[in-house]
Amino acid sequence: MRAVLLGPPGAGKGTQAARLTERFGVPAISTGDIFRANVKGGTELGRKAQEYMNAGQLVPDEVTNAMVRARLAEDDAAAGFLLDGYPRNPEQAVELDSMLADLGVELDVAIEITADFDVVTERLLKRAEIEGRADDTEPVIRKRLEVYATSTAPLTAFYAGRGLLVQVDGLGEIDEVTERLVAAVAR
Ligand code: AMP
Repeated sequence: MRAVLLGPPGAGKGTQAARLTERFGVPAISTGDIFRANVKGGTELGRKAQEYMNAGQLVPDEVTNAMVRARLAEDDAAAGFLLDGYPRNPEQAVELDSMLADLGVELDVAIEITADFDVVTERLLKRAEIEGRADDTEPVIRKRLEVYATSTAPLTAFYAGRGLLVQVDGLGEIDEVTERLVAAVAR
């Protein structure tokens, strides 16, 4: 399975990606997780990404695209992957197509986890208490949702136009949502 996961911050992409990884035996590749690991490790990449992340803005495409291109070329992604948090704008989607073309493979499905902005805002504020992520504060959450609406949401039409989009309701119990996702992918 080669899939991208779309949906606003707080929709449950990370949680569900971890579960789908087990079901489908392909790695979940989260650009946010890779950036956070690099910030924590004090790498050059982390240094480049940090100020954008803290502001709720997208890290520049040239940085992000190069990172994803390198990750997708690793052995464990050869038989499939689940991209969580990438692509995030139309330019990245075009770049992903080019990466996959270079690898001689195609995307099977784009899965959108839907959830309304009030619900995700509450979830993210709760997550802030548990995980203490620097970008889970109210003003930054607002900015991230704005970026999602403006830059990322148009990707659903992009993938729908290619017949690749499936939409799954992200509200409800985590297990329930996982089963909806598995059913949607198997369709
Ligand atoms: P996430 O964990 O997916 O919510 O991502 C956290 C932050 O990492 C985002 O707010 C961005 O600053 C950055 N980020 C993650 N994925 C991307 C991407 N595909 N393009 C640009 N920035 C990204």
